[in-house]
Amino acid sequence: MMEIDPELTYAPHHIQKQLAYLGAMRQFAREIAEKGHQIVYLELESKDNKHDFLLNLNWLIAQYRIEILEIQQPDEYRLAQQFEAIAEKLPIKMKIFDSEHFITTRNEAAVFFGAGKNWLMESFYRAMRRKTGVLMDGEKPAGGQWNYDKENQKSLPKSHQAVRGFWFQHDYSAIFEQLQKRKIPYTGKADPKAIRWPANRHESLQLLDYFVKYKLSNFGQFQDAMHQVDPYVYHSLLSFSLNTKMLNPLEVIQKAEAAWRNHPNQYPLAAVEGFIRQILGWREYMRGIYWHKMPEMGNANYFEHQHKLPSWFWTGKTKMNCLSKTIGQTLETAYAHHIQRLMITGNFALLAGIDPAFVHEWYLAVYIDALEWVELPNTIGMSQFADGGFTATKPYVSSANYINKMSNYCKSCAYNHKQKTGDKACLFNSLYWHFHERHRDKLGKNARISLVYRNLDKMKTEDHAALMQQAESYLQELDNL
Ligand code: FAD
Ligand code: SF4
Repeated sequence: MMEIDPELTYAPHHIQKQLAYLGAMRQFAREIAEKGHQIVYLELESKDNKHDFLLNLNWLIAQYRIEILEIQQPDEYRLAQQFEAIAEKLPIKMKIFDSEHFITTRNEAAVFFGAGKNWLMESFYRAMRRKTGVLMDGEKPAGGQWNYDKENQKSLPKSHQAVRGFWFQHDYSAIFEQLQKRKIPYTGKADPKAIRWPANRHESLQLLDYFVKYKLSNFGQFQDAMHQVDPYVYHSLLSFSLNTKMLNPLEVIQKAEAAWRNHPNQYPLAAVEGFIRQILGWREYMRGIYWHKMPEMGNANYFEHQHKLPSWFWTGKTKMNCLSKTIGQTLETAYAHHIQRLMITGNFALLAGIDPAFVHEWYLAVYIDALEWVELPNTIGMSQFADGGFTATKPYVSSANYINKMSNYCKSCAYNHKQKTGDKACLFNSLYWHFHERHRDKLGKNARISLVYRNLDKMKTEDHAALMQQAESYLQELDNL
């Protein structure tokens, strides 16, 4: 195992991400050494570490007289390319094995959809349910329905109290010092003495148990809800453990299914199905899209958006409360849940016409779970519609109405969620209409948003002009909002 600088610097990773990955790697090395396996571990400051895969491999091959290199398929295109090139230059043979950490192979979704252009997540998900037998009663979906999404879009009650979390406390100050010494740049904040993310499989299993016991039953109904003092709500926080392979996706799914089968009165099927769909459906589907669409996906920019990312994305200092809270929390914790990522930061970036490459750079840096194979299709495809609608059937955008309905952000915002024009008008309102107007040529024929265009066309000329003017003045000063 090796800790090399390029893996720490290919994005300005959140400091908690750097510490949690290195901490978990070191812990894993210790655990397998204790079990009697032989392991060579090149730490950041090891004298033999050349901070390059090929140079380190050549050194290991010579040092330990290695005869064959066997590796697990990398999850990222960038690494797959690197290892293809490395294989050519090594003095020994390299064998690659498929990863056992996914439910599908890299190209299983592509084979499933064949030449068809319409990759519908729902049909892939149903096929995955049949393939694995998860939530199936024979040939039929458990409970008679495949999808309970309609029951899963509630906002939180006014009386909502922050849900108690389950955290660890790891002292990674030695690693932090090594990172500082090597001048590795980072984003976000951390107390290196108290890193809260799991460090091994045992802790990841504890986190899973906690989620199933205390949060799963409410996961479904409130999965889209946001709260300014409760950033985690009923979400599992399992993505870090899943993406680092401390947990296998199928074991997480099976644990949730078993909870429902054993205690159907305690766990609504809608909650369990909603959770399982995220992992068995979305996670595997996104991986399929990534491998099908790389490398073009990396540069996709369907709307030809050109704006830079406002500088406050890296500080959270904006008057827009929903963005300030979501970004502030992201920098503090390296976490935001799906709807915060999609309907707050992603929604704003798309409406404001930010170049998707900058949006991708940001998402890849700031989240504890950010790895390109899952971050890129979510950002470029789902959130920014930059692949022209391959991943999403319509852009995920909204005006302030949705944000106000699903959160309590608007209540303490300098802007007014009801106002469309004027000094205090919420930006999401005018930008929403401006976005649709400026992309009429690309979106006007999309049947799923025909109502938006009908409403735009019904607008009085003077109202339409005022809205467009309001949006344009905001677009001129994105850095100062
Ligand atoms: P929960 O809400 O508890 O969901 C359970 C699990 O389902 C997650 O742990 C995750 O493994 C899986 N899941 C849910 N939604 C998705 C999805 N859309 N795609 C893939 N898996 C999903 N997820 C990442 O793991 N890494 C990323 O870098 C990442 N970047 C994203 C960027 C954007 C713009 C968006 C909109 C979403 C992104 N997601 C990413 C997906 C999702 O937001 C996170 O997986 C989720 O918020 C992680 O928190 P959680 O573990 O509490 O998830
Ligand atoms: Fe966000 Fe607008 Fe609500 Fe403010 S008023 S929190 S900017 S949606």
